[in-house]
Amino acid sequence: MGESRISVGVLGATGMVGQRYIANLAQHPWFEVTYVAASPRSAGKTYADAVANRWHIGANIPEGVANLIVQDANIVENAKGKCKFMFSALEMGKDAIKALEESYAAAGIPVVSNASANRWTDDVPMLIPEINPDHTDIIAIQQKHHGWEKGFIAVKPNCSLQSYMAPIYALKAAGYPVKRMIVTTMQAVSGAGYPGVPSFDMIDNVVPYIGGEEEKTEKECLKILGSVGKDSIENSAFPIVSAHCNRVAVIDGHTACVSVEFADGKKPTIDDVEKIFTDFRGLPQELNLPSAPVHPIIVRHEENRPQPRRDRDADKGMAVTVGRLREDAVFDIKFVALSHNTKRGAALGGILNAELLKAKGFFDNL
Ligand code: NAP
Repeated sequence: MGESRISVGVLGATGMVGQRYIANLAQHPWFEVTYVAASPRSAGKTYADAVANRWHIGANIPEGVANLIVQDANIVENAKGKCKFMFSALEMGKDAIKALEESYAAAGIPVVSNASANRWTDDVPMLIPEINPDHTDIIAIQQKHHGWEKGFIAVKPNCSLQSYMAPIYALKAAGYPVKRMIVTTMQAVSGAGYPGVPSFDMIDNVVPYIGGEEEKTEKECLKILGSVGKDSIENSAFPIVSAHCNRVAVIDGHTACVSVEFADGKKPTIDDVEKIFTDFRGLPQELNLPSAPVHPIIVRHEENRPQPRRDRDADKGMAVTVGRLREDAVFDIKFVALSHNTKRGAALGGILNAELLKAKGFFDNL
């Protein structure tokens, strides 16, 4: 496995998402972690020392990474020659992340990012590989805009919308585009990083506000469902989304209650919808990418599913689980959708993006 793997770095390797990258890349057939970077607080320590007392993953720290010396993510120069491309799981000011990701790209090191800083950059693709794999076409335009020869930036969307984007897209692809929808999310505490929301606020409680989350949930789907234009990704006009985002006392797994209204009065039956969800496949399944779930959407029939504890790890934590599919008295249909926020919604989703980019040849000449 070792020799032929592409060397990769992780920015923010010590954080909640960064640790998932480290754990999930340990056995990856294509990528090997050779570089880890975080804040100046962690720089200079071995990775094991830097995450001592805050390693959140059930498995041990992978041997190949435990003794790597953590670098300061702000010093781009250090990474040159150490890895071919970077995963970015940084949590710092948006402007600082944007500037830093651009510096890595300018240095010829492509960045596959989880951060929100570049999601609304016009020429940066916001990828969910089952939905918009063609958005990678904007990368050549992005490189031309900046004069970058090898480097580029590709991002993944917010974790809050991961559970319902595949279902909404599957409906659109089957000829039933959604016009309007109301989404109420119940989001896990791991979504806030570590240490995140104080336990005193979370235990025995629901917090009906997550800063910036409703705006992201309402807007990002329009870029994801958009198309590649001459100079930028052109947003879709629909669906119009109204979101309520809540933080709940769950460790991992974001749940969304979704009510949708179809466009043009064209409404599938509940049986049609179930079949559309169950049959849905995308390019990652066609290409058999290593992290692709076999079934991107799993439909459950039990009246009390999906549940975070029982369903978040479906198919490596990469499948979305949908249940409670039924008619809606105000809109057309409603359902509950669940996805793992630090797996599909963050690190594994980022790894799937990188697998797509590799399969399309974007890492060939680094
Ligand atoms: P986190 O646990 O707070 O980790 C933040 C990481 O950024 C740590 O490695 C930290 O290093 C590093 N960092 C902080 N300040 C820095 C600085 N000044 N210079 C360089 N590095 C710095 O956050 P997280 O939850 O993993 O989130 C990481 C990113 O993924 C965020 O942009 C977040 O919005 C996004 N995201 C998170 C989730 C989720 O479910 N958690 C889902 C989707 C997207 P130290 O350890 O040295 O402080």
